[in-house]
Amino acid sequence: GAYLKAIEAANPALNAYVAVTGEQALDMAKGSDDRLGKGQGGALEGIPLGIKDLFGTKGVHTQAASHILDGFKPEYESTVTSNLWRDGAVMLGKLNMDEFAMGSSNETSYYGPVINPIRAEGSNANLVPGGSSGGSAAAVAAWLCAGATATDTGGSIRQPAALTGTVGIKPTYGRCSRWGVVAFASSLDQAGPIARTVEDTALLMTSMSGFDAKDSTSVDIAVPDFAAAVERGVKGLTIGVPREYRMDGMPAEIEKLWSQGLEWLKAEGATVKDISLPHTKYALPAYYIVAPAEASSNLARYDGVKYGLRVSGKDITDMYELTRAAGFGREVKRRIMIGTYVLSAGYFDAYYVKAQKVRTLIKKDFEDAFHAGVDAILTPATPSAAFGIGDETLAADPVAMYMQDVFTVTVNMAGLPGIAVPAGKDGKGLPLGLQLIGKPFDEETLFAAGRVIE
Ligand code: GLN
Repeated sequence: GAYLKAIEAANPALNAYVAVTGEQALDMAKGSDDRLGKGQGGALEGIPLGIKDLFGTKGVHTQAASHILDGFKPEYESTVTSNLWRDGAVMLGKLNMDEFAMGSSNETSYYGPVINPIRAEGSNANLVPGGSSGGSAAAVAAWLCAGATATDTGGSIRQPAALTGTVGIKPTYGRCSRWGVVAFASSLDQAGPIARTVEDTALLMTSMSGFDAKDSTSVDIAVPDFAAAVERGVKGLTIGVPREYRMDGMPAEIEKLWSQGLEWLKAEGATVKDISLPHTKYALPAYYIVAPAEASSNLARYDGVKYGLRVSGKDITDMYELTRAAGFGREVKRRIMIGTYVLSAGYFDAYYVKAQKVRTLIKKDFEDAFHAGVDAILTPATPSAAFGIGDETLAADPVAMYMQDVFTVTVNMAGLPGIAVPAGKDGKGLPLGLQLIGKPFDEETLFAAGRVIE
């Protein structure tokens, strides 16, 4: 009830929710009360959550913030959200995002931008919450839900968490089922939580995780009680510091925060070690080949026949073209064009195959570091704090916007887990985050080390 009132009051200004499921929420909350009354509550009984519009929710608005899915309400429930409801969580509604999760500022949504609830000191200018899970991060930061689901293909959980002072973890690829989640780039997409503390993300992730036979890339491995790892500490751990992440032109505040983070970990008994991840600089260009390639193939299904929007034409080809022209936004069209180009017969080897080889090298860089005794790697989460809505340099230059992902995409390319934790503020009082990268299926170390930094 209190959360629904808060949404009603704050959402018109923030635009974090695209659909509020008030009645359903009250029903679910009543069920929770009944179960708690009988002493049968689940691990998340009664916890009110916001769900990113990318997750299929049965009978409820699911449009990936795109016009092409106009009116789509699936007949199914995604595995991740089913897991949350099984454990007693309550759905408040669906959260805004970049269209099909393509973006770093939540400005590509069909529903318009999400506003970051945080502003710079002494300024009234609206800032972006990051993307693509901008609605998730903004809703959590503004107390419009206790936690949210999000997805991360190149940084979309960690970057918005960093820009809003919240915590977000991208689990190891295969940890959370992708079944029932609208696909962007299937070999990179992972679901994960955003919440206000490391402990809350750990609780949510325990529920969201687990093997699912309906997702062929789901991994059959036991799900630990992640919350139990939060207070484990970092004594005896070796934390790697990759020299390639010291980018030219990195703001001094971020550099300082990074050193500060290392000091905090050392003070709790960790050892810090300089490492090299030599192929880092190729990760971003390779990502922007692999991700659009997979996206162009995944988005081929939106043809005006099976889902959502249909714009009639003189024949079926005309109908396809008119529907796709009207249904997809600019950034989605740009990705489809890049993707079909790099997959086309003459360019396939030069771009797509090359990018896949680079991906293998990036993965090997991390494997080498872990084999050399590193337990987790500390880096900045983003190259800047939150920036203005409609930032002119970024709007005019898509590649400058793609740079937002420079510290996060490597993790998706290698399939590793990564957590972003709020670590401090810049000179204007805006939150800055640090990222911890872990070994495959060792999210527990990330929760323990993240707890020391938050
Ligand atoms: N900003 C990146 C992109 O636009 C990552 C998005 C994501 O992780 N979903 O592709």
